[in-house]
Amino acid sequence: LRSGAQSLAPGSTVFALSSGQGRCGIAVIRTSGPASGLALRSLTAPREPPPARSAALRLLRHPRSGEPLDRALVLWFPGPQSFTGEDCVEFHVHGGPAVVSGVLEALGSVPGLRAAEAGEFTKRAFAHGKLSLTEVEGLADLIHAETEAQRRQALRQLEGELGQLGQHWAETLTKALAHVEAYIDFGEDDNLEEGVLEQADKEVRALEVSLQAHLRDARRGQRLRSGAHVVVAGPPNAGKSSLVNMLSRKPVSIVSPEPGTTRDVLETPVDLAGFPVLLSDTAGLREGVGPVEQEGVHRARQRLEQADIILALLDASDLGSSSSCDFLDTVVVPLAAQRPDDGQRLLLVLNKSDLLPPEGRVPSPGLPPHLLLSCLTGAGLDDLLKALRTQLAAVCGDPSIGPPLLTRARHQHHLQACLDALSQYQPASDLALAAEALRVARRHLSHLTGGGGTEEILDLIFRDFCVGK
Ligand code: GDP
Ligand code: ZN
Repeated sequence: LRSGAQSLAPGSTVFALSSGQGRCGIAVIRTSGPASGLALRSLTAPREPPPARSAALRLLRHPRSGEPLDRALVLWFPGPQSFTGEDCVEFHVHGGPAVVSGVLEALGSVPGLRAAEAGEFTKRAFAHGKLSLTEVEGLADLIHAETEAQRRQALRQLEGELGQLGQHWAETLTKALAHVEAYIDFGEDDNLEEGVLEQADKEVRALEVSLQAHLRDARRGQRLRSGAHVVVAGPPNAGKSSLVNMLSRKPVSIVSPEPGTTRDVLETPVDLAGFPVLLSDTAGLREGVGPVEQEGVHRARQRLEQADIILALLDASDLGSSSSCDFLDTVVVPLAAQRPDDGQRLLLVLNKSDLLPPEGRVPSPGLPPHLLLSCLTGAGLDDLLKALRTQLAAVCGDPSIGPPLLTRARHQHHLQACLDALSQYQPASDLALAAEALRVARRHLSHLTGGGGTEEILDLIFRDFCVGK
């Protein structure tokens, strides 16, 4: 499954700054390709290269002018035991911009070396079978991970779990195919053990069930990768902007005592309890106001439809008002009646609990389950975060347990194509067609890890990387 990209194997040698841009203590510059050894000797002459995979301190000089550039740690990784599978060198230089540009310039002057393109090191690792495609994606996600849950999921994918699952599925198909083919060849033969076809059938059907379960879960993996949509909704002045500001710990929305201040939908990425969230504040849902605000109301409704979790906010001290009742009747009650596996989840929050009389009684007994909060004092925030965490774990999946999740539309696409092929598997009616269906299904599965992957898919994935990775 890993051999799909031999054609990518390049003969050139590339170099790039692999650590972050800008002033820093240490910068890492690396090379990959057959001329790496030459590059190392050119910059560290007259000293001998250090032993493989151990660090040595060397004075780096420009190969043309002999000008000293830096005293740096150098590491020599002869292929195939390197990240890319090719000969690689790492220069750990001092992070000043002049040092970095001097060493890059020096490497560019070595014959056969050129600057690397974005993701080229990883692409070479893939071409040499060091990483499967799902592992490459895991690596890209790990580099971009901003929350703990994203990091966990990315690391699991980089460690190869999704790829192994795909491989396991492919093996199931191979076995079933072998059974069907044996039956085609020796169907009448007494030597053939009994029930081979039934056995194949059972395995294929079980595989279908498993693929379907993973497809049903696919949205969770994608939410975990790109963020769950949490929308704060409620009548004007309930405290929506105040809540968004509190959750994101930075002022993103305008808080004002004047109803209708938030006219547009603002979206801000936040880390809530380790989960990536796109949090949006919406315009107060009320009708019959000026055209600008009406547009905001329209967008707010749209946003509600796309939300994974809706935080419905009401002013606890104002539950009897017509805007509160409207919001309860038109938004909260219909949402509360939905089953949670319909996708959307509702958290009803009564804000401004500080304005309630000391006994803290909520004056409206018929209310759906709710939490009490005060954005002013912070009372109830911990309970709200706990409830949010539970909901987020439900819509994103918990990345530390359970089977690996499908994290990209690409994965979904290959699994669906495999399932479509399996629907053509009808051994009772035509054995030859059934065998062909299994072959097609297996081919789609192999695309998951990059077997027979097309250049376009590869380019798309590698473009996600920065130069130097
Ligand atoms: P929005 O229109 O729903 O976005 O509401 P805002 O966040 O702009 O808040 C409306 C008003 O309510 C502002 O004056 C806030 O300071 C005030 N407010 C928000 N949360 C609370 C709270 O928990 N208690 C009290 N007493 N006032 C609040
Ligand atoms: Zn607002």
